Amino acid sequence: MELLKGKETADFIKKEISAKVAEIVANGERPPHLVAIIVGEDGASKTYVANKERNCAQVGFKSTVLSYPEDTTEEFLLGVIDQLNNDDEVDGFIVQLPLPKHIDEEKIINAISPKKDVDGFHPKNVGLMLLGEETFISATPYGIMLLLEHYNIETTGKHCVVLGRSNIVGRPVANLLSQKSKYGDCTVTICHSRTKDIEKYTRDADIIIAAIGIPEFLKGDMVKDGAVIVDVGITRVPADNEKGYRIVGDVEFDSVAPKSSYITPVPGGVGPMTIISLMKNTLKAYELRKKSK
Ligand code: NAP
Repeated sequence: MELLKGKETADFIKKEISAKVAEIVANGERPPHLVAIIVGEDGASKTYVANKERNCAQVGFKSTVLSYPEDTTEEFLLGVIDQLNNDDEVDGFIVQLPLPKHIDEEKIINAISPKKDVDGFHPKNVGLMLLGEETFISATPYGIMLLLEHYNIETTGKHCVVLGRSNIVGRPVANLLSQKSKYGDCTVTICHSRTKDIEKYTRDADIIIAAIGIPEFLKGDMVKDGAVIVDVGITRVPADNEKGYRIVGDVEFDSVAPKSSYITPVPGGVGPMTIISLMKNTLKAYELRKKSK
């Protein structure tokens, strides 16, 4: 069994991005600029945004966080998005989800300029991704693909089972793995909450991507020997420590790891890859904006 070390891989990519940013700045230009919008007081969202800020600082990006209260109106938020869409000093921005219930997430995502949509959630970017064309691929699926690439995991002709069909993880990653490409060419099965006998699929899988949000759902007796396991799950479960919680994935590591050929740890697997993919997308947005000038 070998660990798919997301933290190490992300650090490696971070160095590449930092070098590019240093070059940009040495040429007398401003660094790439990422803006994050956060509405409300969700603790996990604040942690994610703080993490994104830290990563921006590490690679040399400018980063701005716009925090608004829970009772912010949809109209106000659309106004902010319009300003950012037209601000030449901003290369990319994200709206941290979930938004408070009174704000229509779809409307907000649709209002983001696809050129600045570094989360890759805009329908235009999702469509380009589905067609296998150049676009911003959303951060978690992109991070998973980069991790498979970094470890040169053989995917061609393999049976990949994706657990979960969300728009931000399950469906896009299933699509990317089925595309005609070096780290694609898989035969993909998508399982979800209505799938019967899920073990029937997981036991046949060469690669399993678990993205359902149920702690330790996937057990050792559900996987075949030598499978590649990517655990996307992040659930906070109460723990007797300083924070009062610990992070648990969708895979029961202790029973699955001995059977696997490769497995991601949680934390330190897909999480860091997600953030670094956002950094990659921001650099790309910067480069595209410069090219279009
Ligand atoms: P989501 O939107 O809640 O989707 C969960 C998916 O799992 C749904 O498709 C659901 O099926 C399926 N599901 C639920 N119970 C199931 C069961 N018993 N058997 C099979 N499938 C089941 O979640 P998400 O946003 O994709 O996130 C999934 C997990 O990944 C969460 O723990 C989240 O925190 C984590 N995550 C991590 C990162 C990272 O950077 N590491 C990024 C994003 C998300 P239905 O469609 O039928 O409801």
